[in-house]
Amino acid sequence: MTKFISVVSGKGGTGKTTVAINLALALNEFGHNVILLDSDLRSADIGLMLGVSPKLNNIHDVIDGKKNIEEVVYHHPSGLNFIPASISVQTVNASPELNSVIESLDGSAEMVIMDAPAGFHKEVFSLLDSSDEVIIVTNPELPAVTDAIRTIALVEQSGKKIAGIVINRYNGDEAEMSVENISAMLGKEILEVIPEDIYIRKSVKLKYPVSYAYPLAPSSVSFKRLAAKVLGKY
Ligand code: ADP
Ligand code: MG
Repeated sequence: MTKFISVVSGKGGTGKTTVAINLALALNEFGHNVILLDSDLRSADIGLMLGVSPKLNNIHDVIDGKKNIEEVVYHHPSGLNFIPASISVQTVNASPELNSVIESLDGSAEMVIMDAPAGFHKEVFSLLDSSDEVIIVTNPELPAVTDAIRTIALVEQSGKKIAGIVINRYNGDEAEMSVENISAMLGKEILEVIPEDIYIRKSVKLKYPVSYAYPLAPSSVSFKRLAAKVLGKY
């Protein structure tokens, strides 16, 4: 049985896509059969971040009935298997169709890591419906933490398991909220802290995941530790 794990945050720009890509890659490097699914149909950017052509067939072609799901699973040079979404502006609310496409992935991998859209709306709620577990990404600042509180409430309402809270872009400077403070506000333990890391921005420029382009970068080490914790080995 496939475990479906979504990466959500409420607030935009917290690092959901970065976490989803690098978590999936680290899980794959640990020998697990993983598919990364771009479930952010509003602002798809997994294909962009992985440097593949935007003309590749993608999840929208499956939703439109033009392709089978197996035909849109691509293999990145890093070893990561992924399904991109269309980068064009999508006016259609494809959430019901996305749920059945996600269901059709059951049995095709050990884990499916799903990159969520930002916000609190129908598409996020239906992605939660399709998830077994949820990873919540936040940043060490009040607006992001407040949205993480809302996200926790929604996930708990939906009865899904929170696999962990990730603080991303952590510097440890005095302008930031501390890990202890964030943990206390959320009423949850923090699974992993990913540092602010220039190598992430360098890797975006190269269009490679940071943990592939710079495996020894501070954030790459954190992503490996996060993957080990998600697997319960840490
Ligand atoms: P989201 O998917 O939540 O909108 P992204 O993963 O696209 O967020 O991240 C937004 C931008 O922030 C990315 O382009 C990336 O360059 C940058 N970023 C994310 N995490 C980090 C980090 N830990 N250190 C430095 N830059 C980061
Ligand atoms: Mg994103």
